[in-house]
Amino acid sequence: MSKKIKKRKEIAKILQEPKGMHDVLPVDEMYWSRIREVVSEISEGYGFHRIETPLLEFEELFQKTVGESSDIVAKEMYTLKTRGGDMLALRPEFTASTMRAYLGHSLGRLGQPQRLYTFGPVFRHDNPQAGRYRQFTQANFEIIGGQNDPVYDAHIILLSMRFLDILRIKGVSLRINSIGCRVCQPAYRRQLQNYYKSHEKELCADCVRRAKTNLLRLLDCKEQGCVKLREHAPNILDKLCVTCSAHFKSVIEYLDELKISYVLDNTLVRGLDYYSRTVFECVIEAEGREFGALAGGGRYDYLAEFLGGHATPGVGVAVGIERVIGVIKAQGIVFSSKQKKMVFVVHAGEMAKKKAFRFVEEFRRAGIYVKESLAKDSLKAQLKFADKEKARIALIFGQREIYEGTVIVRDLENSLQETVPLDRIVEEIKKRLK
Ligand code: AMP
Repeated sequence: MSKKIKKRKEIAKILQEPKGMHDVLPVDEMYWSRIREVVSEISEGYGFHRIETPLLEFEELFQKTVGESSDIVAKEMYTLKTRGGDMLALRPEFTASTMRAYLGHSLGRLGQPQRLYTFGPVFRHDNPQAGRYRQFTQANFEIIGGQNDPVYDAHIILLSMRFLDILRIKGVSLRINSIGCRVCQPAYRRQLQNYYKSHEKELCADCVRRAKTNLLRLLDCKEQGCVKLREHAPNILDKLCVTCSAHFKSVIEYLDELKISYVLDNTLVRGLDYYSRTVFECVIEAEGREFGALAGGGRYDYLAEFLGGHATPGVGVAVGIERVIGVIKAQGIVFSSKQKKMVFVVHAGEMAKKKAFRFVEEFRRAGIYVKESLAKDSLKAQLKFADKEKARIALIFGQREIYEGTVIVRDLENSLQETVPLDRIVEEIKKRLK
């Protein structure tokens, strides 16, 4: 390989994002800013307060909560040893960090429950493919503390569906299940284990491993043989204890009351150690393309105890933002950006350019939306740019006007123009843009 080709290859590599991680370019800003608006609309409307946790946490936090046998902890965490010898992990999700912060800062002493939300990147060393990245963004909503009342499960499900609805996403289906509690789940697990033991030869290699480490996950394996097997597997919904059964029934009744349709899916388990009782996902399948879940969540009443805290109920959801944006694009949803009324500052000549530069800043400080292309010297080029930017008014700082202490105000809609004294220009523009 010639030196030149080698060099070119090296440069090409440097310009790439790491596998499974993506730049967000200005061309997508329309989607991201709408999403941020919806996050604040939902959090305000449903009474959630923002909490921010570090990108890095002790690795142990996720081992103790998400669970050593989960794919996230067993295969997908980015971990590092600090110079001081601590083992840290880039957060692969938010719930464990939120609960750590809740316990660590004694948020339980404040009004209960606490409704907390987060928005930001999470990291999983997954196999990148469509809708599956190594760095992606989640909006997380958690209700922690107080009672384990089913109304909170319904509350979280409602806001998840509303989130997608506000964005005008079509064809969202809610899948819901209950995976029981400490009382009923062990007996169910034993039955499941016996069932799969007698069918071990028909399981895929992954499921043979999971049977020992993360038994419930056998139910959501996508391999054909395993899908077939689970048709006759014991059904968790038949095995719930009286309390879990009543809890789940009540969640369903709230959904009925809100006219939220759902699919009872007894194969939905979600595979993280901290879940109990309600688990759900908001899934979409459009034009034959499988997008996977847009949001997923559930109840985690034992999570606080995993971290040495008192029994503290909790329920929450994580919405996957890149997947949501993928669906928005696939469904051709566009968000009309409110065209702000804007003035465009134009100059003719070096002295006028300096004055124009100063006035651009004065306009900004006066709250006037202003743009310029002062680096362009040709008046024609500047006016063309103003037109392209759909400015309402052009302010032309000319050499003569500078001497006279004036500026030309040109209405770009009807091309009428007049000369206005510079000391009145801010007021004049404000009046015209009203
Ligand atoms: P989870 O924390 O796995 O329940 O994921 C919650 C949501 O995050 C999912 O419903 C997806 O929308 C999104 N998500 C999960 N994993 C990925 C990934 N690897 N890449 C992009 N989005 C993801």
